[in-house]
Amino acid sequence: MSDSIQLLPDNIANQIAAGEVIQRPSSAVKELLENAVDAGATEIQLIVADAGKSLIQVIDNGSGMSETDARMSFERHATSKINNIDDLFRIRTMGFRGEALASIAAVAQVELKSRRAEEETGTYIEIENSQVKKQEPVAFPVGTSIAMKNVFFNVPARRNFLKSNAVEMRHIVDEFTRVAMAFPEISFSLTANGQEIYHLESGSLKQRIVHLLGSNYTAKLVNVQEMTDYLNVYGFAGKPDIAKKTRGDQYFFVNNRFIRSAYLNHAVMSAYQQMIPADSFPMYVLFIDLDPAQIDINVHPTKQEIKFEDEKIIYAFVQAAVKHALAQFSIMPTLNFDLDPGIQQLDAVARPFTEEKKEHAAASALYNTFTQKNQAHLIESKSGLKHWKDFFPEAGKAATGQDAVAGKLEYEQEGAAIGRTAGTGHSLQLLENADLLQIHAAYIAASTNQGFILIHQQAAHERILYERYVTAAKGKPIATQRSLFPLTIPLTTPDAVLLQDLLPDLHVLGYEIELFGKDTFVIQGTPADVDQGNEKVAIEQMLEQFKHFNSDVKFSKREKLIRSLAWQHAVKPGRYLAQKEMKALAEELFACDQPNITASGNPTYIAFKNDYLERMFGR
Ligand code: ADP
Ligand code: MG
Repeated sequence: MSDSIQLLPDNIANQIAAGEVIQRPSSAVKELLENAVDAGATEIQLIVADAGKSLIQVIDNGSGMSETDARMSFERHATSKINNIDDLFRIRTMGFRGEALASIAAVAQVELKSRRAEEETGTYIEIENSQVKKQEPVAFPVGTSIAMKNVFFNVPARRNFLKSNAVEMRHIVDEFTRVAMAFPEISFSLTANGQEIYHLESGSLKQRIVHLLGSNYTAKLVNVQEMTDYLNVYGFAGKPDIAKKTRGDQYFFVNNRFIRSAYLNHAVMSAYQQMIPADSFPMYVLFIDLDPAQIDINVHPTKQEIKFEDEKIIYAFVQAAVKHALAQFSIMPTLNFDLDPGIQQLDAVARPFTEEKKEHAAASALYNTFTQKNQAHLIESKSGLKHWKDFFPEAGKAATGQDAVAGKLEYEQEGAAIGRTAGTGHSLQLLENADLLQIHAAYIAASTNQGFILIHQQAAHERILYERYVTAAKGKPIATQRSLFPLTIPLTTPDAVLLQDLLPDLHVLGYEIELFGKDTFVIQGTPADVDQGNEKVAIEQMLEQFKHFNSDVKFSKREKLIRSLAWQHAVKPGRYLAQKEMKALAEELFACDQPNITASGNPTYIAFKNDYLERMFGR
């Protein structure tokens, strides 16, 4: 009997291997677009005909290829992106397996044109069935054009397997969207059957999202941004009111690579919990950037699934980042009103430290905040209270009385106190001529007669505005500045009903708004401190926040409105403040009736006393 094992001819081996990478026209679209990105292009054109079945062409203005490289690029495992095994753990490019062009050449007719800046003529190569048919010099601008014709012409079983043009085109648009979304600084266009479907100028991520997914998202995106030493999470999350009944616009990118992850999706969903109906899906476009050594992208031929070195950490970060973002845009009930009354008793919180507690404090979250860029652990807790509670481990346990909440707490001993107010006797005063220091664009350190305080800029401003609005509501209306160009705002019917209901209260607070036809209002004037030009956004955001108050919380409509406005107009973390602004903020805070906490009970500052500091340094 003769032996029966044979080596497969190259072209058949290539076709089989190609099946993994090129499953349908859209797979080739993805690979070609990614190659153009990897080549450093700033302009990328995608041209398809017949839903990619007859033509897929990508033209870029990237680095181009030398004659040899152009020829080599079609060899299997030919890549310029890795040299040794260690490179696999440092991958920053989209490609690295060196399989895409070889696969494309195995299942289609390919024409490549390419030129590098340092060469005068370019290279033209025609390849079919993995065989080079033609190679010659060509005049061509710097960059590369790869045209893939009649995909699967030589693999009829696969060709017959392709779906209708509508379906295949949908896949192509999906791939185009994913790549274009990840690189807003690159301009992209997509032309199908001679008609330009997308023309995306380079711009911001937000602009790119709106161009790709629709302008109805313009005012509906909440900025997500948590930067840490370990990873960065950033992008946008849709406001809860635009959650859809069908899973639609949900995008995760890890190091700019689109990935699918049910696990991370769950992290996002949990951040939206109780903000959207159980059967609906929020919109999100989130980027996770981390050291490539922390991930394995090599687990799937199309690289859409990846393994994280530590999945749980990523989950926690993503969840915290989205929660944080959503909390910034709206006052979530859980954030401000579900406070455990025990925790609110600041009396206990402000008790003196023992040696043992001091040690505990030094190891606590607050200290770590100063040493790590990592902020996410602070927002992990539902109410944002965890960090200061940790700092004072006895908080909530031995709570007594309302003193602290009333801000009249007297405090004689060492230690740091939260929201300690100017009580009688040893009153805490800002040092008049001392410079203030802003930290992380979120806190202000200020010297006092007793040590220093760390002011939370947003919380402090919220307190100031809150008291100003309460005074206004009691009969000293806030000055209105008349708009030169009154703006109209069209609203949905429910929002219009709500706004109509709030008009008298808003008037007292400096807003002059009138009904102007069905569901449309005209803003005639705004409080003097609202930036002109932002009136429309201010009203829209105020309505959003108002709606997010828990309806069963026993506050009057006016109280809710005041809290919404105070929150909304308060400076947010991330805003840099000038010396003058910080001074004004600190002074106004201490001129408040109750400077130590926000209306919802969060501390506005933490005080550190000199003797306590000395002891911390072992003096
Ligand atoms: P990979 O992207 O995994 O390296 P490919 O088969 O996609 O493998 O491409 C092979 C090689 O061809 C790349 O490593 C790159 O050097 C070169 N190449 C492919 N497309 C382009 C392009 N548009 N511009 C410049 N070089 C390219
Ligand atoms: Mg590639």
